[in-house]
Amino acid sequence: QVGMNAQDLGKILHREPSEIVKKLFMLGVMANQNQSLDKDTIEILAADYGIAAKEKVEVDVADIDKTFEEESNNTDHLETRPPVVTIMGHVDHGKTTLLDHLRHSHITAGEAGGITQAIGAYQLKHQGKTITFLDTPGHAAFTEMRARGADITDITVLVVAADDGVMPQTIEAIHHAQAAKTPIIVAVNKIDKPGANPNHVMEQLTEYGLIPEDWGGDTIFVQISAKFGKNIDELLDMILLQSEVMELKANPQQNAAGSVIEAKLDQGKGSVATLLIQQGTMHTGDPIVVGNTFGRVRTMENERGKEIKKALPSTPVEITGLSDVPEAGDRFVVFDDEKTARAAGEERAKNALMEERRTKNTVTLDNLFDTM
Ligand code: GDP
Ligand code: MG
Repeated sequence: QVGMNAQDLGKILHREPSEIVKKLFMLGVMANQNQSLDKDTIEILAADYGIAAKEKVEVDVADIDKTFEEESNNTDHLETRPPVVTIMGHVDHGKTTLLDHLRHSHITAGEAGGITQAIGAYQLKHQGKTITFLDTPGHAAFTEMRARGADITDITVLVVAADDGVMPQTIEAIHHAQAAKTPIIVAVNKIDKPGANPNHVMEQLTEYGLIPEDWGGDTIFVQISAKFGKNIDELLDMILLQSEVMELKANPQQNAAGSVIEAKLDQGKGSVATLLIQQGTMHTGDPIVVGNTFGRVRTMENERGKEIKKALPSTPVEITGLSDVPEAGDRFVVFDDEKTARAAGEERAKNALMEERRTKNTVTLDNLFDTM
């Protein structure tokens, strides 16, 4: 009944009141233990605990990585999708300047002012075609994602400053891209600077197997100035050319599947996750498993903070509605029904907890009893 608070609910559901408060927080509701809750909130919360307790759903696809592979290998209804591009390179060689330039120079008039860029990815249109850029904070994030099995980049743009040449993080970036088997487009940057020596950069890079077409190789080089916007269109042309050669495709008709780019807990919205859709189309209301958490896509926004109802392959979106905060690199899969999604999510959370305990090298009395 209305008027119940987290403490009352805790008693009914056999949970600690603090857990109820945390759960509410995840759902975007700020309340202390004694605050009475409205009917809707109680219902949502009860459902959250109730269904799982009442009906035990057996899931043989608890392994969403497997589901993801299956969805990815589905070759029906394939359609061309936009390339997903990551910009990498040594510190101060101009990655952020390039991303900023792209972002500001390719906003259509109507969108000007609406560029809040809340999420770590965005799309732009060039020659009528869409390109998705991932604004990864650095190589560490890229490595982390790859280590977790999420190869989400199609093309790497390697930025090398023409006045500085190949540096340690340039080499690191080349190794990452080569390990991930993504083609590299070299953007020789800062060609406006007096000390710029693009030829030297090209010579240096031949040591790493990056040989320009003019010299008999197959690597695309573009000489740019990110700061002054020189040859940026050429760079985008080359990205589109490369993606055409790769024949990137996805099936927009299936359930959405993809990877987490980043996720956080927001005071007002609860768990907020930025996802890259790699397969299928995502709709608001979709039951979803994300890493070890699950939920329903409650709201979905594009990178400009605009509410959208559906999103196609290669689109980055920010969603709310998850019961917990997933990690960057986690996979997600949309399920046909919420019960299965919940069961899969809970199964995965349990397995993750067991794994964590197994790998803990210190045995305390507490976790010994817990696992017994
Ligand atoms: P990041 O560390 O790779 O993200 O590098 P930034 O984009 O932060 O750039 C580092 C510095 O180089 C900044 O002061 C930029 O203004 C400058 N810079 C970036 N691109 C160019 C360019 O094309 N020409 C010149 N002259 N300076 C540039
Ligand atoms: Mg930067």
